[in-house]
Amino acid sequence: MERNGWFGWERLEAPRATRDELSRVHSLRHVDLIAELSARGGGAIDLDTSAVAGTYEAALRAAGGAVALVDALLRDGEPCGVAALRPPGHHASAARAMGFCFFNNVAVAAAHARAAHAAERVLILDWDVHHGNGTNDIFQADPAVLFCSIHEWPLYPGTGPSDDVGSGAGEGFTVNMPVPGGSGDDVHLSLVEHVVAPLIRAWEPQLVLVSAGFDAHRADPLATLRLTEAGFAGMTASLRRACADVGAPIGLVLEGGYAVEALAASMAALVPVLGAAEVPRAVDVEVHPLARAASERLAQLGSMRRM
Ligand SMILES: [Zn+2]
Repeated sequence: MERNGWFGWERLEAPRATRDELSRVHSLRHVDLIAELSARGGGAIDLDTSAVAGTYEAALRAAGGAVALVDALLRDGEPCGVAALRPPGHHASAARAMGFCFFNNVAVAAAHARAAHAAERVLILDWDVHHGNGTNDIFQADPAVLFCSIHEWPLYPGTGPSDDVGSGAGEGFTVNMPVPGGSGDDVHLSLVEHVVAPLIRAWEPQLVLVSAGFDAHRADPLATLRLTEAGFAGMTASLRRACADVGAPIGLVLEGGYAVEALAASMAALVPVLGAAEVPRAVDVEVHPLARAASERLAQLGSMRRM
């Protein structure tokens, strides 16, 4: 990003999330637990997830940066933005840190859009290679936040089968799209173009957030998907076209991605697409059988008729 002059984007320091902002999603007991663990110098939470002395401060700013992104989009009228922050968030549930995640940044951001900006409908697309189990849990029964996830299956954390469609009032507002190991750009591009983009056009969210992990990249050591930089840019173009059609701003929140050069190259490929003055032109994307199956499942859900 530095080599490209940050593509002319304005860079802002992430503020700390407040307790009020965190408490829309997390128990304060959980927030205090992370604070106390960091104050003691850190320690292990589970096999994957350890805090160090600086974790609480970093996690506060990761969540706060996602909140600031929502303010920029919904208060200041910016059309797009990126919260390029770590630690990631999508595995954190209301009361539990796991999978390198402490506070669920994208969930805190969506809750902020609802509470502070009266957004009635927020759509989250999680394209991190791992299922966003924390986000899925937090909005499981919430019909105001439509959670879509494309993830490798089977893979950590083992959640997110296609028949998890939400529950209670939120039934039909969770769209899980597991894909087999080895899948490439074509599957993701079709799922975004033929499932997620039509959902955006049908449901007309006031805000679209992306849990943007880059561990589905072919170079990533933690998974086996085969995405390229062009795939990430293509998904971004697809989302931008749909968002332009309904007038929704779009914000990316960084999640995973463990091949640093691949993460950087993917960001450098998608940021110009995200920020381009012109809406990217439509391209033909072949309908993948998984996208056809997902569309058919959605059509059968009674909840979708409420849209
Ligand atoms: Zn991941």
